[in-house]
Amino acid sequence: METVFSKIISREIPADIVFENDDVIAFRDINPQAPVHVLIVPKKWVKGIESADSSDKLAELLLAAAQIARDEGVDRRGYRLVINSGADGGQTVDHLHVHLLGGRKMHWPPG
Ligand code: AMP
Repeated sequence: METVFSKIISREIPADIVFENDDVIAFRDINPQAPVHVLIVPKKWVKGIESADSSDKLAELLLAAAQIARDEGVDRRGYRLVINSGADGGQTVDHLHVHLLGGRKMHWPPG
């Protein structure tokens, strides 16, 4: 499945990549909602969390997110990880991704 994120993975379109390993790529969101807004994406296409299974690298996504939070210097004050799922969840790109948001106080409940 070709998505804007698979084009970033294959370097067909540019992105500000902050982390990459064999399983995961992470880059800055093009429309940031916080001073730090990074998307952590599995290189193997998975539509979303609803279609993920135990062969998908879900733990690697979260561990990469925590590492990036430390690298970005938001770990001490805190940050938020978000997975939007489906229409009501606000998912707009059908390629599983975790949002890392930090650098400001987050609101609760989210809108
Ligand atoms: P979601 O709404 O949870 O599916 O998140 C998709 C995110 O992808 C949004 O926050 C968009 O701003 C972001 N996005 C879309 N296209 C790009 C791109 N080319 N580079 C970086 N981020 C993007």
